[in-house]
Amino acid sequence: MEKWHIVVDIEKCVGCFNCMLACKDEHVGNKWLPYTDEQQKHENKWINPEKHERGSVPFTEICFVPHMCQHCDEAPCEKKFPDVVTKRPDGIVLLDVKKAKGKKELADACPYGAIVWNEELKTAQKCTLCAHLLDDGWTEPRCVQSCPLRALSIVHCEDTEFEKLADKQNLKPITNGSNQPRVLYKNLYKFNKVFVAGALAFLDGDIEKAAVDARISLSLNGKKLLEQKADFFGEFKFDKLPKNSGTFTVECLMEGYNPIRQEVTVGNECVKMELMTFEGR
Ligand code: SF4
Ligand code: SF4
Repeated sequence: MEKWHIVVDIEKCVGCFNCMLACKDEHVGNKWLPYTDEQQKHENKWINPEKHERGSVPFTEICFVPHMCQHCDEAPCEKKFPDVVTKRPDGIVLLDVKKAKGKKELADACPYGAIVWNEELKTAQKCTLCAHLLDDGWTEPRCVQSCPLRALSIVHCEDTEFEKLADKQNLKPITNGSNQPRVLYKNLYKFNKVFVAGALAFLDGDIEKAAVDARISLSLNGKKLLEQKADFFGEFKFDKLPKNSGTFTVECLMEGYNPIRQEVTVGNECVKMELMTFEGR
């Protein structure tokens, strides 16, 4: 059977919040019963592009990670509240509007923080994937439709077909995937991996200049893993390194100068190396 799957591309999302506003536009002031009651105007967000920073000045990077209900196949919310939560055959997870009333504890049942408490209506709510629209023949929920960068996409296909797509595009769940989420992320390294960055210079007389095109390699336990050239500013960056992946050797080479070797330990955070200056042989 064909089911719904969502793909979020972290490299494409610019944090414009159009998805969140489209969700508000669809659900604030509108009751789409029996799917959901209306969304609270303020605070409650059923999709939330959260800012995530990596690195430190001058090697800083910001990305936005849209968080929403993952429509899990092994949903913890459903396990805890089977009388309130329904998993539809097409993959969409819905809360029973009547039974969710007064159940603030539903919010704690979601490890993704996707269930919010509507204080005005005294009810628990979450993203419905605009099931009222999809059931009416729409091919996209409002968030996907409104994303100007196509950072969000929806795929309606058999699970086996989607698995092939996930393999091909390296789509990953935002956590370890044990709840079998139906929302998968592309380029998740911006959120869960780290980089080692630095800058290289050389002395031309008394003047310090950027070591453009110097060659830099990254090795672990004597094995060269990555190699690149310094850019126009003499800067380099080795990205997509797993957190806590060990102590690496950074070796920098420039013709006519002594090589530079430094050890860097990759922990939980990105590493900024101090400026390294080539000295003559
Ligand atoms: S993300 Fe949370 S609310 Fe959505 S299905 Fe999974 S456990 Fe339930
Ligand atoms: S609309 Fe698209 S680009 Fe804008 S915040 Fe949402 S996912 Fe990101």
